[in-house]
Amino acid sequence: MSADKPHQNLAIIGHVDHGKSTLVGRLLYETGSIPEHVIEQHREEAEEKGKGGFEFAYVMDNLTEERERGVTIDIAHQEFSTDTYDFTIVDTPGHRDFVKNMITGASQADHAVLVVAVDDGVAPQTQEHVFLARTLGIDELIVGINKMDVVDYEESTYNEVVEEVTQLLKQVQFNTDDASFIPVSAFEGDNVSEHSDNTPWYDGKTLLKALNELPEPKPPTDAPLRLPIQDVYTISGIGTVPVGRIETGVMETGDNVSFQPSDVGGEVKTIEMHHEEVPKAEPGDNVGFNVRGIGKDDIRRGDVCGPADDPPSVAETFQAQIVVMQHPSVITAGYTPVFHAHTAQVACTIESIDQKIDSSSGEVAEENPDFIQSGDAAVVTIRPQKPLSIEPSSEIPELGSFAIRDMGQTIAAGKVLEVHERT
Ligand code: GDP
Repeated sequence: MSADKPHQNLAIIGHVDHGKSTLVGRLLYETGSIPEHVIEQHREEAEEKGKGGFEFAYVMDNLTEERERGVTIDIAHQEFSTDTYDFTIVDTPGHRDFVKNMITGASQADHAVLVVAVDDGVAPQTQEHVFLARTLGIDELIVGINKMDVVDYEESTYNEVVEEVTQLLKQVQFNTDDASFIPVSAFEGDNVSEHSDNTPWYDGKTLLKALNELPEPKPPTDAPLRLPIQDVYTISGIGTVPVGRIETGVMETGDNVSFQPSDVGGEVKTIEMHHEEVPKAEPGDNVGFNVRGIGKDDIRRGDVCGPADDPPSVAETFQAQIVVMQHPSVITAGYTPVFHAHTAQVACTIESIDQKIDSSSGEVAEENPDFIQSGDAAVVTIRPQKPLSIEPSSEIPELGSFAIRDMGQTIAAGKVLEVHERT
């Protein structure tokens, strides 16, 4: 990664098996981000198993495995560079915790690529992911209509799927004028870096060109430091090493920091990134660091690290706008599902349903409704059952969104409007 290009976090969203992993592998490959010898090795392996052409998916599978084993702290996000940007991919190829990953991914992504397989069209997770991306504040989408090879690069089939996706985007009020639709084959590489002869009827951008032309995100370096803790390790010679990704602000050695809600703190002694000690780290950096006087049992996953003089907020209650995606019956006050916010998972009670919002106009449709159900948007008051660090979305959007999970699925997603802090 060069130091002079702006950075983008990119979520890859879409229904399972529509080709997200393959497309990511293809992007890494086409931008020269995977060493040729690694590709070659996977190609040989794939051919031995009679699966020639699967090498990109193989590459992705391997990266995923390494990530799940948590071997290193900096492999969690794959990276590639285009002419304009350095990208970090927030990929979601795993089938376990799929939606949850998608949420934590999308909440920190600047933009998203939606992958839709042309032979399947809009599928349940396509809808779910588009909906979540919208709720969590992504407003630029690149839509890759994938597997064009499967339908012999037929323009009419492509147009049908484009129409289907356009309808979906309109439903959730994405500005479809800003979405680019691209016919691709992740597998064959059509229209990824170069225009494909297989689609003479298409004269739009290639995927890489669309990525190059995304608007530049504003780096949240001016906001206070917020670093949600992913894990806490003990490393010999150093001591306790919390790891995580800086969402906002900067961390420098010598800073006085505070971990909330654990409510402990100290001075940052060392910061490590990509296995090297650095004096300073910025938003988007995955770091491991060491804080004087902090032991392994003092802090945990779900804590947020921030400056001692502007510590992360801990909510007694908070008000939020949520959208109910799928719930088998109705949601009433008293409902206590698990909330996923940054790296935290905490059971929270919906204490009151304050307003039902008309999702097409954004206006209040009903004050204090008795219940809400699938498809409804509402303002609710929430009481975490255990301390939870969370921020108003208007102040620190990176720490201001969450997903509500129950019965193995995502019930709703939301944004924090106001935090009433623990005293
Ligand atoms: P994911 O679950 O969305 O990450 O999907 P994968 O990338 O794992 O792909 C699912 C399957 O579709 C795999 O067998 C891929 O090899 C295949 N696949 C992905 N992209 C293409 C494509 O462009 N053309 C064809 N024919 N198959 C593809």
